[in-house]
Amino acid sequence: MAENIQKIAAEELISIQVINSIDYSFSTGPIMGKWFQGLKEKKFYATKCPSCGRTMTPPRGCCALCVVRSEDFVEVGPKGTVVNYDIAYYASPDPLTGKVRKTPYSALFVMLDGSARDIFAHEIKDDDIPKLKRGVRVRPVWNEVRTGSIHDLLYFEIDG
Ligand SMILES: [Zn+2]
Repeated sequence: MAENIQKIAAEELISIQVINSIDYSFSTGPIMGKWFQGLKEKKFYATKCPSCGRTMTPPRGCCALCVVRSEDFVEVGPKGTVVNYDIAYYASPDPLTGKVRKTPYSALFVMLDGSARDIFAHEIKDDDIPKLKRGVRVRPVWNEVRTGSIHDLLYFEIDG
Protein backbone atom coordinates (compact mmCIF):
# COMPACT_ATOMS: atom_id res chain seq x y z
CA MET A 1 0.00 0.00 0.00
CA ALA A 2 2.62 2.58 1.05
CA GLU A 3 4.71 1.51 -1.89
CA ASN A 4 1.84 2.35 -4.29
CA ILE A 5 1.38 5.83 -2.78
CA GLN A 6 5.06 6.63 -3.27
CA LYS A 7 4.91 5.38 -6.84
CA ILE A 8 1.87 7.61 -7.64
CA ALA A 9 3.43 10.69 -6.00
CA ALA A 10 6.54 10.29 -8.09
CA GLU A 11 4.60 10.44 -11.36
CA GLU A 12 4.46 13.75 -13.19
CA LEU A 13 1.13 15.54 -12.82
CA ILE A 14 -0.40 16.77 -16.01
CA SER A 15 -2.40 19.99 -15.92
CA ILE A 16 -4.25 21.80 -18.64
CA GLN A 17 -4.92 25.52 -18.47
CA VAL A 18 -8.15 26.55 -20.20
CA ILE A 19 -10.00 29.86 -20.29
CA ASN A 20 -13.71 29.28 -20.82
CA SER A 21 -15.68 32.19 -22.18
CA ILE A 22 -19.13 32.18 -23.69
CA ASP A 23 -20.32 35.16 -25.68
CA TYR A 24 -24.06 35.53 -25.08
CA SER A 25 -26.83 38.04 -24.62
CA PHE A 26 -30.09 37.85 -22.72
CA SER A 27 -33.27 39.83 -22.43
CA THR A 28 -33.32 42.12 -19.40
CA GLY A 29 -37.10 41.96 -19.10
CA PRO A 30 -39.22 45.00 -18.11
CA ILE A 31 -37.89 45.42 -14.57
CA MET A 32 -34.13 45.32 -15.22
CA GLY A 33 -34.70 46.94 -18.60
CA LYS A 34 -36.04 50.03 -16.80
CA TRP A 35 -32.97 49.99 -14.53
CA PHE A 36 -30.53 49.91 -17.44
CA GLN A 37 -32.52 52.52 -19.38
CA GLY A 38 -32.28 54.72 -16.28
CA LEU A 39 -28.52 54.33 -16.12
CA LYS A 40 -28.35 55.42 -19.74
CA GLU A 41 -30.31 58.56 -18.73
CA LYS A 42 -28.17 59.13 -15.57
CA LYS A 43 -31.02 58.01 -13.31
CA PHE A 44 -31.47 55.30 -10.70
CA TYR A 45 -34.81 53.53 -10.66
CA ALA A 46 -36.16 51.40 -7.86
CA THR A 47 -39.37 49.46 -7.53
CA LYS A 48 -41.60 50.22 -4.58
CA CYS A 49 -43.46 47.49 -2.76
CA PRO A 50 -47.22 48.27 -2.71
CA SER A 51 -47.54 46.49 0.63
CA CYS A 52 -44.65 47.60 2.88
CA GLY A 53 -43.48 50.57 0.81
CA ARG A 54 -39.81 49.69 0.71
CA THR A 55 -37.82 50.57 -2.38
CA MET A 56 -35.59 48.03 -4.07
CA THR A 57 -32.45 49.15 -5.88
CA PRO A 58 -31.73 47.73 -8.39
CA PRO A 59 -35.43 47.13 -8.95
CA ARG A 60 -37.02 43.75 -8.40
CA GLY A 61 -40.37 42.52 -9.62
CA CYS A 62 -41.33 41.06 -6.27
CA CYS A 63 -40.85 42.14 -2.67
CA ALA A 64 -39.18 39.21 -0.92
CA LEU A 65 -40.53 40.33 2.45
CA CYS A 66 -44.20 40.60 1.47
CA VAL A 67 -44.10 38.18 -1.48
CA VAL A 68 -46.15 40.53 -3.65
CA ARG A 69 -45.49 41.97 -7.11
CA SER A 70 -43.76 45.34 -7.10
CA GLU A 71 -43.86 46.90 -10.52
CA ASP A 72 -44.21 50.59 -9.63
CA PHE A 73 -41.02 52.51 -10.32
CA VAL A 74 -39.70 55.45 -8.36
CA GLU A 75 -36.56 57.44 -9.03
CA VAL A 76 -33.98 57.39 -6.22
CA GLY A 77 -30.68 59.20 -5.73
CA PRO A 78 -28.65 60.26 -7.57
CA LYS A 79 -26.75 61.12 -4.40
CA GLY A 80 -26.49 58.79 -1.49
CA THR A 81 -24.83 57.96 1.82
CA VAL A 82 -22.07 55.40 2.36
CA VAL A 83 -23.44 52.65 4.58
CA ASN A 84 -20.38 50.43 4.47
CA TYR A 85 -17.34 49.70 2.32
CA ASP A 86 -14.47 47.33 1.75
CA ILE A 87 -11.04 48.19 0.45
CA ALA A 88 -9.14 45.46 -1.36
CA TYR A 89 -5.36 45.67 -1.15
CA TYR A 90 -4.69 42.21 -2.58
CA ALA A 91 -6.58 41.48 -5.75
CA SER A 92 -7.20 37.97 -6.95
CA PRO A 93 -6.77 37.30 -10.67
CA ASP A 94 -9.76 37.73 -12.93
CA PRO A 95 -10.85 34.14 -13.71
CA LEU A 96 -11.51 34.99 -17.35
CA THR A 97 -8.41 37.00 -18.19
CA GLY A 98 -5.90 36.00 -15.54
CA LYS A 99 -5.03 39.67 -15.11
CA VAL A 100 -4.81 41.16 -11.64
CA ARG A 101 -6.65 44.37 -10.96
CA LYS A 102 -4.83 47.51 -9.78
CA THR A 103 -5.06 47.95 -6.02
CA PRO A 104 -6.34 49.34 -3.80
CA TYR A 105 -9.92 49.34 -5.02
CA SER A 106 -13.20 49.57 -3.16
CA ALA A 107 -16.53 47.87 -2.80
CA LEU A 108 -18.91 50.60 -1.81
CA PHE A 109 -22.37 50.14 -0.32
CA VAL A 110 -24.53 53.21 -0.82
CA MET A 111 -28.02 54.04 0.41
CA LEU A 112 -29.32 56.17 -2.44
CA ASP A 113 -31.49 59.11 -1.38
CA GLY A 114 -35.11 57.96 -1.33
CA SER A 115 -34.23 54.33 -0.69
CA ALA A 116 -35.79 52.94 2.44
CA ARG A 117 -33.71 49.84 3.13
CA ASP A 118 -31.81 48.56 0.12
CA ILE A 119 -28.21 49.44 -0.48
CA PHE A 120 -26.55 49.65 -3.85
CA ALA A 121 -23.05 48.27 -4.36
CA HIS A 122 -20.50 49.89 -6.65
CA GLU A 123 -17.10 51.54 -6.11
CA ILE A 124 -15.62 54.88 -5.13
CA LYS A 125 -13.18 56.92 -7.19
CA ASP A 126 -9.63 55.73 -6.43
CA ASP A 127 -8.55 59.19 -5.20
CA ASP A 128 -11.37 59.18 -2.62
CA ILE A 129 -10.47 55.81 -1.04
CA PRO A 130 -8.41 57.41 1.79
CA LYS A 131 -11.37 59.66 2.67
CA LEU A 132 -13.94 56.85 2.84
CA LYS A 133 -15.96 56.46 6.02
CA ARG A 134 -19.47 55.50 6.93
CA GLY A 135 -21.97 58.31 6.60
CA VAL A 136 -20.06 60.26 3.96
CA ARG A 137 -22.16 61.66 1.11
CA VAL A 138 -21.40 60.53 -2.44
CA ARG A 139 -22.56 61.36 -5.95
CA PRO A 140 -22.36 59.31 -9.13
CA VAL A 141 -19.89 59.97 -11.92
CA TRP A 142 -21.33 58.90 -15.24
CA ASN A 143 -19.61 57.59 -18.31
CA GLU A 144 -19.68 60.11 -21.14
CA VAL A 145 -20.87 57.41 -23.54
CA ARG A 146 -23.74 55.43 -22.02
CA THR A 147 -25.20 52.31 -23.54
CA GLY A 148 -27.61 51.04 -20.88
CA SER A 149 -25.19 48.93 -18.86
CA ILE A 150 -23.65 49.03 -15.39
CA HIS A 151 -20.58 50.59 -17.04
CA ASP A 152 -22.66 53.75 -17.60
CA LEU A 153 -21.89 54.48 -13.95
CA LEU A 154 -18.11 54.82 -13.66
CA TYR A 155 -18.01 55.15 -9.88
CA PHE A 156 -19.15 57.33 -6.99
CA GLU A 157 -17.14 60.24 -5.63
CA ILE A 158 -17.35 62.08 -2.35
CA ASP A 159 -19.86 64.92 -2.56
CA GLY A 160 -18.49 68.15 -1.23
ZN1 LIG B 1 -42.91 44.57 0.81
